[in-house]
Amino acid sequence: MGALDQNIVGYDLWHLSVPVVSVRDHGIGKVGGACEIVVLRLTSEGGEEGFGEASPWSVFTGSPEAAYAALDRYIRPFVVGRSVADSAAIMADAARAVAFCTDAKAALESALLDLAGRISGVPVHALLGGRCRREIPLSVSLANPDWAADRELLARLVDDGVGIVKLKTGFKDHAFDLLRLEELAQDFPTMRVRVDFNQGLEPDGATRRVQDIAAFEPEFIEQPVLHHHYDLMAEIRASIDVPLLADESVFGPEDMTRAVREGICDGVSVKTMKAGGLVRAQTVARMAATAGMTAYGGDMFETGLAHLAGVHMIAATPEIGLGCEFYQAKYYLETDILEESFPCEGGSVQVPSGPGLGIRPDIEKLGHFRV
Ligand code: MG
Repeated sequence: MGALDQNIVGYDLWHLSVPVVSVRDHGIGKVGGACEIVVLRLTSEGGEEGFGEASPWSVFTGSPEAAYAALDRYIRPFVVGRSVADSAAIMADAARAVAFCTDAKAALESALLDLAGRISGVPVHALLGGRCRREIPLSVSLANPDWAADRELLARLVDDGVGIVKLKTGFKDHAFDLLRLEELAQDFPTMRVRVDFNQGLEPDGATRRVQDIAAFEPEFIEQPVLHHHYDLMAEIRASIDVPLLADESVFGPEDMTRAVREGICDGVSVKTMKAGGLVRAQTVARMAATAGMTAYGGDMFETGLAHLAGVHMIAATPEIGLGCEFYQAKYYLETDILEESFPCEGGSVQVPSGPGLGIRPDIEKLGHFRV
């Protein structure tokens, strides 16, 4: 019997409200005050622990209440009493136990892999196929409706060595988007710029607005229109020279099949929270690469715990070549929930090499932020 052949005996959940430093506006919704997440802890017979985070956004993937209920009521019976070694079988049962709730399933897989990694003394990326990179370039999103505040953040990012920003557009008028792009080009000429509409544009006039943005030649333009407007995504893509990326249109491998078939994008935002786990996120990236598309590692409103799951996933996925967006732990939360700082220096995220996810949440903080 191997070390992983021991049962999962503990299954604990926390619904947290974690304060953030500013309001952020996106095409389809605002965030401010705090972000709500669900943390799962699995405990093995031998006393090892594994952690995972569900980071829902109600207007995007679903509500924290739904993620909590999915884990607490529908998924729990398929986990407790099962062997740590049977993680793929547990994930398959969880997928059938409750529809959607992809963030809850991502939390479960993170916790299973963290637990298996801690028991066997290897990092999660080793369990996902092995490491292809030690660092991941960081992109920080600019989404503050107060542009002066974002300019202050930009100055800090330059000081910190961050080389990529993603400008959130389409939540105010077109002139505001153009003005910010002009100032970025003029005052921060070394910064690589990407643009994300978060589905913010009405179909009428969307193509023309995106063409105006494309004139600034950002590295890519992401999800200008609603997720189900596949035809319009394809039409916009054909009308610009800048790569068009899909985010909300592509959750898991099933959507990726359709995105490739209908030619809606040149690349995709890969997120464990959308895909429903780390392995399914890897699958999305590999499908994209097979179709000649690029991919980057996106995130939701996460703490460092969910970031870590994403970091290990990207560290083991060479097909994700456009970096990551795991900036919240350092730049958006008032306080992160990890025992140590999320590893992010010099414009990159450093891939942890310790067992499991490499860093654990601080249990006292989980109690402090509990709803
Ligand atoms: Mg996006």
